[in-house]
Amino acid sequence: MKRHIHFVAYRKVYNWTIKYVALLFICALIGFCSVYIYFFYSDATIGENIVVEPFQISKPVEKVQFTGKKFVHLDLKGAPPKISYYEYLFPLLFNSGVGGVVIEYEDTFPFEGNLSNISALNAYTRSDIDMINILADTNKLEIIPLVQTFGHLEFVLKLEEFKELREVPIYPQEICPSHEKSLPLLTEMLTQIIDAHPFTEKIHIGADETHHVGRCKECTRRMKLEHITTDGLYIKHVKKIRDFLRRKYPLLKIFMWDDQLRNFSEEETLNELDKLDIIPVVWQYNTDVFNTLGPSLWSQYSKVFPNVWIASAFKGATGVDQYIVDVSHYNQNHRSWLDVVENYKFLMKFDAIILTGWQRYDHFSILCELLPVGLPSLLMNLKILEGELDNRVGPTKEVAHILHCRQPYGLMGPAFGSPRCKFPGSDILENAYRLHRLNEDYNELKRSSVMRGWVTNYNILYNFTNPYHFYNIAPQLNHLENEVLEIENDMSKALLNVYDEYTKDEWILTYINPLKKEIQELIRVKDQLLDRDVWPRRPLKLEVPKEQQRT
Ligand SMILES: [Zn+2]
Repeated sequence: MKRHIHFVAYRKVYNWTIKYVALLFICALIGFCSVYIYFFYSDATIGENIVVEPFQISKPVEKVQFTGKKFVHLDLKGAPPKISYYEYLFPLLFNSGVGGVVIEYEDTFPFEGNLSNISALNAYTRSDIDMINILADTNKLEIIPLVQTFGHLEFVLKLEEFKELREVPIYPQEICPSHEKSLPLLTEMLTQIIDAHPFTEKIHIGADETHHVGRCKECTRRMKLEHITTDGLYIKHVKKIRDFLRRKYPLLKIFMWDDQLRNFSEEETLNELDKLDIIPVVWQYNTDVFNTLGPSLWSQYSKVFPNVWIASAFKGATGVDQYIVDVSHYNQNHRSWLDVVENYKFLMKFDAIILTGWQRYDHFSILCELLPVGLPSLLMNLKILEGELDNRVGPTKEVAHILHCRQPYGLMGPAFGSPRCKFPGSDILENAYRLHRLNEDYNELKRSSVMRGWVTNYNILYNFTNPYHFYNIAPQLNHLENEVLEIENDMSKALLNVYDEYTKDEWILTYINPLKKEIQELIRVKDQLLDRDVWPRRPLKLEVPKEQQRT
């Protein structure tokens, strides 16, 4: 009897537990259905909602903004856009609060006379430059030409007729400041470019990353004779350029990159840079500008420069072979610059900022992120400078609206999905993301145990593998090949809408061909390894090709 009572009590508890679990299950089901219905019928995308939650800001953040003028750097030493692209780009910049563009033509300028060989074969024409002037004027954008006058002259010094002007005979980047033909060459370049922009009020003379100064015999002799250091030699050259510009174009404001001035001692700074009459553009593209540049730089500069310009980056500064933009990096770069300006605005005046967008690291290197791929980053950075509140995913929604994108957070990078935008050049952005995903898939395959265990150099050399594993990855290989061919086709078309065929070819050769070759080689190896159904006894011996057997 006692046993029976126990059994009944146990059954009661058991029944209640079953009922309780069933109730919980029904509640969970209702909850799941509600969430599903919300996503299905609302405009929100899964990506948006997954991403926005963890980054929502809980307390209001103080609005800090950059009040100076904003300029965008167009680096034409790689991928010069068709002139028709400026018809879209310039109104976009104007509407985003940009006051002008800093154009670095390098070899895309149509040089004339003795300099005509400097121009690339696909350089702009003079009527193209006139069109750029008209479009800039229509959109109230000031043009500042940037002409390198010391380092980064690879595009000139690589040529036979100018190689005697190299500071170091084997390196074509720096010009010798002591060679008698150097100044006439540089002043002629400046004259042709300034004259092509009759309304320009400013000129940037570059002069950054000048790593080899005072190396040649003539420079060494001069340094001894004049009792000057390499810094002295450097600044004397800069002053010669300045004096020429002052004489010929007295109203032009002159700018230069500041990095070579950073190493000057305090005494040198005071002696050499006082009354230099050139505005330095202080550049830094990393995520911690504040600490990288440090307080001593600002205190030193404030003694000789009442006002400076600064330069951030929106693309082309995180890796020589990047084809998609690390948007978070550039957002952080701009936030860090705002910190600097906020902290040192009482010491000196920050008149303007140049948002640089590098297209190659130098004349010889490959293309990095293309302009349409960098536009989301550029617009987000401009919003940050306008004082958008701090938010780790940046002002993506505002920019998505401007660029007509359906999935705002996709603008932060491929990890957040495809942004699905509709702006001129958006197909380039879309296909760059596709290529990134394909590269990731291919790298995952390369890391798989099949590839590491059965498709190694050893397996291929001895034609010896277990076909079972290859049959498993064959569909994946076919998919990769189809995808790379499709991206090649779609990207070629997309590139030709914005660029000429040379740029299209260079991009495809750089970023698609190597991957395509690797995938197709793997397919060939697969066919070779699967072309046998009996295998030799170990130890394996190299198979002698049939032609060699006969001889
Ligand atoms: Zn020299």
